[in-house]
Amino acid sequence: MNPKSNAAYDGHEDVVFVGDEALGYKGIIAIHSTALGPAAGGCRIWSYDRDEDALTDALRLSRGMTYKNAMADLPLGGGKAVIYKMGPDRAACFEAFGGDVESLHGRYITAEDVGATVNDMKIISRSTSFVTGIPKEEGRAGGDPSPWTALGVFLSIKGLLGGSVQSRTIAVQGAGSVGRHLCQHLVDEGAKLIISDVNTTNLARIEPLGAEVAPVDQIHAVKADLFAPCALGAGLNAKTIPELGARIVCGAANNQLATEEDGARLVAAGITYAPDYVVNAGGIVMVSCEYLGEAAEAVDAKVRAIAPRVLAVVEQVRREGVSPHLVSDRLVRAKIASARK
Ligand code: NAD
Repeated sequence: MNPKSNAAYDGHEDVVFVGDEALGYKGIIAIHSTALGPAAGGCRIWSYDRDEDALTDALRLSRGMTYKNAMADLPLGGGKAVIYKMGPDRAACFEAFGGDVESLHGRYITAEDVGATVNDMKIISRSTSFVTGIPKEEGRAGGDPSPWTALGVFLSIKGLLGGSVQSRTIAVQGAGSVGRHLCQHLVDEGAKLIISDVNTTNLARIEPLGAEVAPVDQIHAVKADLFAPCALGAGLNAKTIPELGARIVCGAANNQLATEEDGARLVAAGITYAPDYVVNAGGIVMVSCEYLGEAAEAVDAKVRAIAPRVLAVVEQVRREGVSPHLVSDRLVRAKIASARK
């Protein structure tokens, strides 16, 4: 696999192929940019049809982290790890991965992402200090980032709906770590939920909240005030955008747009889209506070700053009539260029 010949390559500073044949573990650590600080981003555990798809994901996700961290005003660059082959001894694989992270001497800081847990991070910490998402003593930032991601998404949804979710219908795609916490916030403040998930165990945890369940291939199309993608990426594409049942999209999933053109497609369809990496920064805000040894209150204040940022981007998109990512990407590129100077 050659990163430079992959279409998702974007001048990444470093792409490291890691693994241990005896353990059956293989992964990729992609460092997109360290212009604003050490490259931070979670570790995704996923299996792909082709190894090249794992590389594409690592390249896209790490670039996304550069943009997300810059947009959230964090002193961090962008990186991401993907473990695409996990051997039978999961703990040993994570310990080996920790050694690989350590060998980068702090240029990459890892955390949880899809498929990884707080316990996995604890195991990684046996072999590196460049890991976050681990519970700390009372009052200090640390632990599972997903409740913070969910809070940032929830407050953004509330803002986009004019300050209240009371009696509004929200379609949530994916009832995993973030989706579950998001659903709880929504129900606590009087919203009606429609949810879908391919995993019936995760779905069953949400149903007691009074949620209606939609088929997995229909959740984007159900009639709702807002659609919240909280599963995997590329859910907004040429097929789904014309079928959207809500006029506003705001969710946690990374890389929601399948292609750049889908941003323009949403604008043309009159859909308000909150750019994913602006909305879903709550987890990385927590990671940053943990890494810097800050107090838990600092996380709350910084996560509450996400929704106003989302609303400002959406407002600018309305004024300029351009694709939402163009507005936020422009802001980020200016920050990086000024840091490089
Ligand atoms: P998770 O693995 O806990 O949950 C994802 C859920 O989506 C699972 O329940 C899974 O079964 C479900 N799912 C998968 N494919 C689906 C489909 N086609 N339709 C419906 N459901 C489907 O992951 P998470 O931590 O909740 O993250 C969710 C999304 O948010 C991911 O894209 C992740 O990259 C992004 N994100 C997460 C965080 C965080 O703090 N965890 C931070 C930023 C962004």
